[in-house]
Amino acid sequence: MPSKTTATWSEADLRHHMHPFSDGTELAELGVRVITRAKGVYYWDSDGNKILDGMAGLWCVNVGYGRDELVAAASQQMSELPYYNTFFRTTTPPATELAEAISRLTPGDLKHVFFTNSGSEAVDTVVKLVRFHANLTGRPEKKIIIARDYAYHGVTMAAASLSGLSEMHPQSDLPLPGLASHIEGCYWYQRGDGESPEDYGLRAAAALERRILELGADNVAAFIGEPVYGAGGVMVPPDSYWPEINRICRKYEVLLIADEVVCGFGRTGEWFGSQTFGIEPDIITFAKGLSSGYLPVAGVAVSDRIARVILERGGEWVHGFTYSGHPTCCAVALANIRILSEEGLVERVRNDVGPYYQAALATLADHPLVGEVRGIGLLAAVELVQDKATHQSFDEALGVGRLCREHALREGLVIRAVRDANVAAPPFVITHQEIDSLVAMWRKALDRTLADIE
Ligand code: PLP
Repeated sequence: MPSKTTATWSEADLRHHMHPFSDGTELAELGVRVITRAKGVYYWDSDGNKILDGMAGLWCVNVGYGRDELVAAASQQMSELPYYNTFFRTTTPPATELAEAISRLTPGDLKHVFFTNSGSEAVDTVVKLVRFHANLTGRPEKKIIIARDYAYHGVTMAAASLSGLSEMHPQSDLPLPGLASHIEGCYWYQRGDGESPEDYGLRAAAALERRILELGADNVAAFIGEPVYGAGGVMVPPDSYWPEINRICRKYEVLLIADEVVCGFGRTGEWFGSQTFGIEPDIITFAKGLSSGYLPVAGVAVSDRIARVILERGGEWVHGFTYSGHPTCCAVALANIRILSEEGLVERVRNDVGPYYQAALATLADHPLVGEVRGIGLLAAVELVQDKATHQSFDEALGVGRLCREHALREGLVIRAVRDANVAAPPFVITHQEIDSLVAMWRKALDRTLADIE
């Protein structure tokens, strides 16, 4: 049999593989990139190109590629017990031990963990949980979940309904009726009206109170938000924002859900973004960083108060996935948490590579295209604008963010384009030298983008 090449994979892919978040016409025209191996912060494609993975896959490979400890954990668990379920009063040691490990890391009294396979399923689980809670507490009208524009909460029906990236809705007639109500989110750079970030943060939070009053507090079950927006463009909230959201949620008995799928497990320099921003959530969703993407495992951490209602008054909760608490995934997640702890990688993000990364990226602010460089920990965005003084965006049709992303890839760096911002969230093991190289490639990409549009 002839050996497989980029051409044979591309051809087979085009014929048989439907891709997430890809345009079929573009795929047919430009082909697909085939990634074949990875180590540390780099991956290689099938043509042998070495690429610095500034996105840690999809914001998930936090401990970097090629960790033998995770391979060993999977292999050992698969030999011993590759699969068993957690339905019907059953568990496996890795599932129980992982729930316990997560409950030690979460803030407050979020001591109860339900496992899913993906972030989207975690968000859908929360929607069902919140409705179940409302029914059990005798408030069946209290069901609407308030979410924000620019939010990304996943793609399943409920998660996509809560997402605030409006292009996600029309293709499938979303949002589902009665589920979500969207308010303006927190985006100081484009929405601040000459006010300080702190004043703006309070004004942005006030949108939540207004909406609760419009809908009636008796109809609002919960508010959901990412501590820092991820896929919506890495907008970092001012310090005033989340404490005010805490206050409003408590005042109106609205549950606070922190979607920590990107921020969880160290990305902002604490185990959870909630700890970084002083959020007091009733429920947290997590995924990606839990296993550093080595195997799919995700879930929901629930406060004692909410969990008790479900556990003590709910009878059988008719919910769960075949692979909820999959033992091999849980064993890998446990080994991943061990690596994060033993190597001090969360502290490394907080005290070392995080500040170094933010300072290095801030040097791009002098570039003629760059309006704002923002970020925290190992999450960052560089927003490109037509006019630095007024923050005026480029004509969308120019696709400036995408142009820059493509130039970066040609330089050997993966970054992502969100409107006209480019975002990057590299693995926690990235070195100072690799950060320097990332920033140098980013600057070249900006120069080439500028040359294109001049
Ligand atoms: N929530 C947030 C904040 C996310 O960033 C994502 C994915 O990027 C999701 C939910 C959905 O997770 P998944 O892709 O695992 O379904």
